[in-house]
Amino acid sequence: MFPEKVYYEPAALSYPLGKTLTEKYRKVPWVPIQNHNKIDELRTQPNSAFPALKRLLIVGVRKTHRYVPNAKISDFLVPYTSSGCSAMCLYCYLICHYNKCSYLRLFVNREEMLEKLKRTSMRAQADLTFEIGSNSDLVLENTITHNLEWTIERFAEQEKGFLTFPTKFNMVQPLLNLRHRGRVIFRMSMNPPEIIQKVELGTSPLERRIDALNQMAGAGYRTGLLIAPVILTESWKRQYLELLDILEATLSMQVKRELGIEVIFMTYSYLHRAINAEAFPNAPGLFDRERMTGRGRGKYCYRPQIRAEAEEFLRFEIEKRFGSSSIRYMV
Ligand code: SF4
Repeated sequence: MFPEKVYYEPAALSYPLGKTLTEKYRKVPWVPIQNHNKIDELRTQPNSAFPALKRLLIVGVRKTHRYVPNAKISDFLVPYTSSGCSAMCLYCYLICHYNKCSYLRLFVNREEMLEKLKRTSMRAQADLTFEIGSNSDLVLENTITHNLEWTIERFAEQEKGFLTFPTKFNMVQPLLNLRHRGRVIFRMSMNPPEIIQKVELGTSPLERRIDALNQMAGAGYRTGLLIAPVILTESWKRQYLELLDILEATLSMQVKRELGIEVIFMTYSYLHRAINAEAFPNAPGLFDRERMTGRGRGKYCYRPQIRAEAEEFLRFEIEKRFGSSSIRYMV
């Protein structure tokens, strides 16, 4: 059952979304907290409690609204209506920010956040693109809050700017009939079926992700695709070839027409190793001493030579199937 318990900042309950959530989850215990960033009884839990922590929901008010300039796919990374996530991908980047407290936090002051987005967008000379999903998975969040539905039509009312967000989930039905007016770029993250099943715990299967991407393109959304993170297991060549073959066979013409693929190699850290060893003792180990090297602050990445070989292989296989300008970037 999700959530098993809600931790909340009392101020959150004076917002309309706070009231809706109170009603929606009235049957589970609600525990008042002072600050969503510092819940001592959760921070002090052992690593083995990680899956149990993921079944909690935190409701608060976002206080930090600083936009971070970004050069990859958007102009700014924007802190939006949630951070953290109730899924449990074994490499999740959120661990580096929140350690084992990477549970789903919902921020109820969405009016304030959307207002800033619209204001910033309208004041800019050119169209800006705002990445609103860099801190959580908004499609998953939307099943609880309907925040994407709420946001997309309101943002698209104006004649300027774009929103974008990536996801590993397929629950896009509520988005299909929205008046998005071409102002939203929906990006689906893909990985081989075996990796999704064993590593991206709690996310949607590949075929559903592909379906969702095709449906969004069919509904007129601009779309993109991530192959992320690339994980170099023993059988990585076979697995990624299988993924590319499936994508080639099943992506719709609409998706293929404007395909911009982001390829991101996995980074890992000692924090992931510690949590995964205790919380998921039977899961595949993602740290590979032979293939990985330290890159400072407890993080690991693939050794330059291993990575260069993988980049060359993937670039060749992707361009063979989807054309020479299909890759947006590889990092
Ligand atoms: S779906 Fe995304 S945010 Fe959620 S656990 Fe997986 S990588 Fe992290």
